[in-house]
Amino acid sequence: MAQEIWVYAEKHVGIIQPVTYQLITKAKKIAKGKKVVVVLFEAMNSKLEEDIKAYGPDEIMVVRDDRLKDATDSEIASLMTVLAERHQPNSILFGATVVGRSIAPRLQAKLNTGLTSDCLDLSFEEDLLIQTKPSYGDNIMCEIICPNHRPQMASVRPNTFKAEKVTDARVVVTEVTDLPFKEAPRVNIIEETPLLSKSDSIAKADRVIGLGRGASDDKVITLAEELARKLGAKIGVTRPLTDHAKFSGEDQIGQSGNSIAPKLLINLGVHGAVQYSTGIENAAMVISVNKDAKAPIFKYSDFSYVGNSKDFLEGFLKVIQ
Ligand SMILES: Cc1cc2nc3c(=O)[nH]c(=O)nc-3n(C[C@H](O)[C@H](O)[C@H](O)COP(=O)(O)OP(=O)(O)OC[C@H]3O[C@@H](n4cnc5c(N)ncnc54)[C@H](O)[C@@H]3O)c2cc1C
Repeated sequence: MAQEIWVYAEKHVGIIQPVTYQLITKAKKIAKGKKVVVVLFEAMNSKLEEDIKAYGPDEIMVVRDDRLKDATDSEIASLMTVLAERHQPNSILFGATVVGRSIAPRLQAKLNTGLTSDCLDLSFEEDLLIQTKPSYGDNIMCEIICPNHRPQMASVRPNTFKAEKVTDARVVVTEVTDLPFKEAPRVNIIEETPLLSKSDSIAKADRVIGLGRGASDDKVITLAEELARKLGAKIGVTRPLTDHAKFSGEDQIGQSGNSIAPKLLINLGVHGAVQYSTGIENAAMVISVNKDAKAPIFKYSDFSYVGNSKDFLEGFLKVIQ
């Protein structure tokens, strides 16, 4: 039996998330004869597999149950455990998103295997998954392997890889309807809200406000949102802010995020690490705010304000009232 690389199909408000397509494309490139299988959990009348087919996995395994419409991450992890124990995949890939970061560790613990989070590259040596990620405060890249346990599990930030559609996709769809649904009713989903902004909107936006760790306070984010509304700007973030509940890896600017080319970019509390700056090279006018006069971001800026993000925002908002 061919070994399988599984990709967890992540959806949000009924839409398959781009990271799923990015992972399918990458998995196909590195598969070396292994089967790329997408695992999709959906309600009876849903047909999201049709969207996934265009990216050409070998198989889409659809787990169908009406209770999956509002299933919690814990319930999904339990179902996926049964599925993985049945099929013994070689590896399982997740998006390093709020959802992926919640399901993957639960599954890892249940399967008693290893999980490397936030990988920036993946490859295979025979059936060993080489998982490359930054480490030691992002200062070095290290390769992590999991030689003694299976499946090998990894999560990858959105936009690390490119998604590519295929024209001649021949995709097998298999349905699984006999998994035991173990309810874990500790979480009650009241409403699903789309995330604040989406990657293609910052990549194409004419005006962007870039928030860094020096603008991560909730009050500052609220002021930045007000300024964004007034300027008709989109909000993008540095990597640390992708951990904030309002943002995700899709909002990240930089080397492993989005490259942007706005006419106006306002950086608030952004240090200016090279991994961020490579993503703003094509911005036409850059205004940066940082309390440290020596912050590297000022080298990439047309106008500099040495001071506090909050003071700048309050002052700016008063002026453009
Ligand atoms: C392989 C690799 C890929 C990476 N890819 C990316 C990427 O795509 N995008 C990305 O952003 N990062 C990326 N990083 C991480 C990057 O190296 C930096 O760690 C990150 O950009 C730092 O984010 P920051 O500027 O928000 O935070 P910090 O480095 O913590 O800087 C915060 C800044 O805010 C200032 N500040 C603090 N308080 C205030 C205040 N009240 N008012 C004004 N200023 C204030 C400080 O002086 C400081 O300069 C990557 C790293 C690696 C190793």
